[in-house]
Amino acid sequence: MAVEKIVILGGGESGVGAALLAQAKGFTVFLSDRGTLKESYRTTLQTAGIPFEEGQHSENEILSATEVVKSPGIPSTVPLVQKLIAQGTPVISEIEFAARYTKARLIGITGSNGKTTTTLLTYHLLKTAGFNVGLAGNIGDSFAEQVIADTYDYYVLELSSFQLDDMYQTQLDVMVLLNITPDHLDRYNYEFQNYVASKFRILQNARPSDHFVYFAESAPILNELEKRQPDVQKLPISLQSTPSPGGYLANGQLTAKTQTNSFSIPQSETPLRGPHNALNMLAAILAAQSLGATSEAIEAGLKTFENAAHRLEPAGTINGIQFINDSKATNVDSVFYALSSMDAPTIWIAGGQDKGNDYSQLDELVSQKVKALICLGVDNHKLVDYFGSKIPLIYETQDITDAIAKSLELGQPGDVVLLSPACASFDLFKNYEDRGNQFKAAVRKMYDV
Ligand code: ADP
Repeated sequence: MAVEKIVILGGGESGVGAALLAQAKGFTVFLSDRGTLKESYRTTLQTAGIPFEEGQHSENEILSATEVVKSPGIPSTVPLVQKLIAQGTPVISEIEFAARYTKARLIGITGSNGKTTTTLLTYHLLKTAGFNVGLAGNIGDSFAEQVIADTYDYYVLELSSFQLDDMYQTQLDVMVLLNITPDHLDRYNYEFQNYVASKFRILQNARPSDHFVYFAESAPILNELEKRQPDVQKLPISLQSTPSPGGYLANGQLTAKTQTNSFSIPQSETPLRGPHNALNMLAAILAAQSLGATSEAIEAGLKTFENAAHRLEPAGTINGIQFINDSKATNVDSVFYALSSMDAPTIWIAGGQDKGNDYSQLDELVSQKVKALICLGVDNHKLVDYFGSKIPLIYETQDITDAIAKSLELGQPGDVVLLSPACASFDLFKNYEDRGNQFKAAVRKMYDV
């Protein structure tokens, strides 16, 4: 029988990893990317002797595949993928492909917001507890490439809805669903329910002994659970009730209980602030507990955790005014949680490319906490129109250094300056990381002034 042919569509981190794994497993491999590859990926493929193309998709090559591994960035509606589906060629994600080649236990984490924080923390807690654990998915090194050597007993996987869409058989031992709020609807036929269904694919192979951690105050999650009644160990997390088993925040105290384990810590003793991070921590703690991490290890892990940059990241203090970089907050929901986390008068820097934002959910928080708004970006008028009568002081600029100088002028010792834009960054910056880095650099520069 001829050797099976795996075609990889998209030559990013996951595609190149999948190509290497496919080659290691003895398949004929071909990688196709309609754009250009990063130099380092090109070199990797060349060194491995894997045939590939850039700038085009050669249909004959692709349609002759036994199976196709598709990058999460390519929608399944593109004609080429439709042709593959029509002729019965399986189209799967890199996660699905890689999971076939590992016996490790898998922890899958999804949600509209909080995935990265929760994934990194879960990984850190398990590592601190002495687990032999890897980190993959939407974050860090490709899962497929790690599976070639397959030295880990556990992997914590950050899963986007696009990755879940192309997953079918992957067996997860712990599943975390943090929240579902409208996002990426362009990929879901503008139907929120399709997006909900995508997120719920995380549960598709759940066994009765597996653990499912989910946010108990999310109406879309509850409705769907009601409909599906999955047979799985449920661990709800809550800000309003005290589920047991499950996790909750009450009187500033985080408590997490499984059938066999109970753990509690004041949030003030952890490095993450805000109700959203309380939920992220509860999810990570429950995931770690359900795999057997001890309370001592969980406590040690929580205390030593450092979150990824640009998420409520302390960026320095000048004249008693604290600067916080939350550049990753590119939607209104994220800003809601950022403002909820502030416990001092706040000078809020927002703006960029507006995505049709509705700011009304911020009204109460803004009136309680925001003393000035600095609008930074192309769509300043949207912010000014909405907040003009609600915030005493509004300043407009297109320059981040000017924004910081102005906030220093307006601020008093004890105030916080919060960059939490609610908007995309592509007007003035390369991406949200660039925006956050420029913010931090501009704050640092002010030390010297
Ligand atoms: P993701 O990887 O899903 O984008 P991150 O952990 O990178 O999530 O956080 C992105 C932003 O989302 C944060 O800056 C914060 O404003 C917001 N956020 C984080 N966790 C939550 C949560 N549990 N619920 C709602 N918003 C959150």
